[in-house]
Amino acid sequence: MIKLVPERVYYEKEIVDYSIGKELLDRYSKDGVALIEIENHNQIPELRELPDSEFVRMKKYLILGIRRTTRLIPNNRSADFIVPFTSSGCSAMCLYCYLVCTFFKNSYLRVFVNRDEMMDQVRKKAQKLGVEKVYEIGCNSDMVLENALTGNLKWAVEEFAKIKDARCTFATKFAEIDDLLDVDHHGHTQMRISVNPPEIIKKAEIGTASLKDRIAAANKMYQAGYRIGINIAPIILLDDWKEQYHELIEELSRTLDDGLRENTFFELIFMTYGLANEKINQAALPGTADIFEKEKMKPKGRGKYHYKPEISQEAAVFFRNEIAAKFPKAAISYIV
Ligand code: SF4
Repeated sequence: MIKLVPERVYYEKEIVDYSIGKELLDRYSKDGVALIEIENHNQIPELRELPDSEFVRMKKYLILGIRRTTRLIPNNRSADFIVPFTSSGCSAMCLYCYLVCTFFKNSYLRVFVNRDEMMDQVRKKAQKLGVEKVYEIGCNSDMVLENALTGNLKWAVEEFAKIKDARCTFATKFAEIDDLLDVDHHGHTQMRISVNPPEIIKKAEIGTASLKDRIAAANKMYQAGYRIGINIAPIILLDDWKEQYHELIEELSRTLDDGLRENTFFELIFMTYGLANEKINQAALPGTADIFEKEKMKPKGRGKYHYKPEISQEAAVFFRNEIAAKFPKAAISYIV
C-alpha cells in the first residue's frame, strides 16, 4: 500500500486559489501536518542546504505549487507530446532514479495544482492538429502514486475521454489502480507497467510495488478495457542478468491475462546511472545494492553513464529473442 501522509508540507500560498490546492491544505492542516509557506517550489532554501544524508527524510515531504511552464514538449518515443503535468518526483527511492540522475537534486514529490491549464494545452493542441496523437502525462513522476493523494489521474482519464483526437499514456511502478477501473475512459488511456525481476525491484526500486502486484494491476486494468504496454525499465545488467530477465519474461507470459498478452507492446530502456545517484545512495542509503558496475559502462553527458554499446547490443538481441518466443504478437516500440 502507498503510505502518503507527508511529514511536512511546503506550499506556495497562491495554491489556495485552486480548489485542489485548498483541499490538500485543509486536509493536511486537519491531520496536524506541519505546513510551511514557500516562495517558489523550485527553490526551497532550507531543503537545498540539507546534506545528501537527509534524502530519506526529504522523500517524506510534499511540496505543493503552481507549474509555471505548461507548454507541451514534442516526443518521439512513448508519445507524440509530453505534457508537463500535475506532479514531479515521488516518494519512492529507486537507486537509479532518473530525476536525481538528470537534475542532480532530490526527487521529492511536488504536486502542481493548476491542472486545468495543463489540460487546456492538450485540448488546444488536439483541436489544432485534428488527428489522433498520444500525450504522455507521467514523464517526471508516477501518476498512480500521485493519484492516491490527489485523484488527478482519475480526473485526467475522464478529461482525455472527452477529447476526440487525444490519447493519454503513463508508466507506473505502483499498483493502486482500483480508482480507475470504473471510469468511462472510452479507450483513450493507455497504461504501461514498468517491470523488473523481483530481486532488482527489492534491491533497487525501494518503496515501489512488487512485481506480483504490478502484474495484478495490469490484468485488472486490461479487464477494465485499458490498453496495456510493458516497460522493461531500466534494464540493469548484473552478473546473472540473463537468468533474471529470462525468468521475468516467463513470469509475465505465465501470469498476464491472455488478451493482454496478445495485444501488448514492449518498451526496453537500459539503465542510465549518474554520479548524483552514487553520491546520494552512499550518503543516504548505505548498505543498499551496488548497481553501478563502472567497467560495463561509459560516460554519457555530464556525470552520467550508460552501458557500453557492445554490452547493450548483446542484451538487445537477447531481449528480442525472449520476447519473440513468449509474446510473438507483441511489437517492441523501442530499445534505448
Ligand atoms: S518511481 Fe523511482 S525512478 Fe520513478 S520518480 Fe520515483 S524514485 Fe524516481
